[in-house]
Amino acid sequence: MTAVTANSDAPVLLDLPPLDAAHFARIEDKVAALMRTRCDVVATQGEALLPLEACIRSAVRPGSTALNIITGPYGETFGGWLRSCGAEVVTLTAPFTGAVDPQQVADALREHPAIDFVSLVHAEAATGNTNPVAEIGRVVREHGALLMLDAVASVGAEPLLTDEWGVDLCVIGGQKALAGPAGVSAVSVSARAWERIAANEQAPRRSYLSLLDWKQRWIDGGRTALPHAPAQLEMLALEQAVDRVEAEGLDAAITRHRAAAAAVRAGVRALGGLTPYVIRDEDAAPAATTLRVPAGLDAGDVVSAALAVDGSVPLLAAAGGPAQEMIRVNHYGRAADRGVVLASLAALAEAMRALGAETAAGDAADAAAAAWAETVAG
Ligand SMILES: *Cc1c(COP(=O)(O)O)cnc(C)c1O
Repeated sequence: MTAVTANSDAPVLLDLPPLDAAHFARIEDKVAALMRTRCDVVATQGEALLPLEACIRSAVRPGSTALNIITGPYGETFGGWLRSCGAEVVTLTAPFTGAVDPQQVADALREHPAIDFVSLVHAEAATGNTNPVAEIGRVVREHGALLMLDAVASVGAEPLLTDEWGVDLCVIGGQKALAGPAGVSAVSVSARAWERIAANEQAPRRSYLSLLDWKQRWIDGGRTALPHAPAQLEMLALEQAVDRVEAEGLDAAITRHRAAAAAVRAGVRALGGLTPYVIRDEDAAPAATTLRVPAGLDAGDVVSAALAVDGSVPLLAAAGGPAQEMIRVNHYGRAADRGVVLASLAALAEAMRALGAETAAGDAADAAAAAWAETVAG
């Protein structure tokens, strides 16, 4: 892409040369490499909810039995789509303060032998937990069901081994750890999943939700002719985001995210008052940490006070657990940074002090810096 120099009034996002099929295919290949998959990867030109819904509507039909594993708000969305496709839905809900236990998944599959589709969220940005996909994938593969994984909040922040884990339909987005665009996403489709989708009379065809359209009109033709005009700005941004991760090194990017989560958790524990919502460190997502506020304080007030101290820190008050307001500390993408994490903790400490809570700001900074250093040192 030619860099366009910004003279003050020249638009920089316009007049780009068209994105051709070869370039589109190359971007898909880069995404596939990042996802550690040799399966087909389709870049879907919309926010990640587009391929997530497309996967369910393509693979599930009346007569299907689906296991929907709910470990946070995103999993809840899938249940509605599964039911609207006519599936019988078995729901496995794990506490949002932790992860689902693979044994629970094995038990559910044994109790309901008809299960042929499993939906799972890898990391939940809203609640800050992450699930052991490797072990769950093994159990699902033994049973023979298809596994769909929402890896939007995990890609680039923690290991995502799509093929090794036996994930049949893996969805990623550009807007979290990749620090890229929100308007493009991607899905990998295994051969088993393609077979199931092709055999599904109800799978969307000639539709924006159709994976089959992409297969027939793009993949099967050798990816030489694009079926639609590509969303070129978003696709170019996705490519730059993936290139930047590759330039940094995926392992280094993952370490940066892990260090951010470890530092926030250690810092908050040393600070006092606030507590990590996800109980065990091994269940904590590297992309975001959610915090409970002490009784008598309101999460929104703490966040407002913190943002008044430092408006640049990535904090928000959000409903995370069942109808509960929590503080969400985002540390994905460029915010998975030592300086950003320490500034977030400093702003939270100052906010808590201003609201009358007893806290230890100095200890928090020390503990966070130590946790960061320890994680980076391995
Ligand atoms: C962010 C995210 C998505 C994308 O949805 P938005 O709400 O539009 O950001 C999907 N799944 C998960 C797990 C996410 O974290």
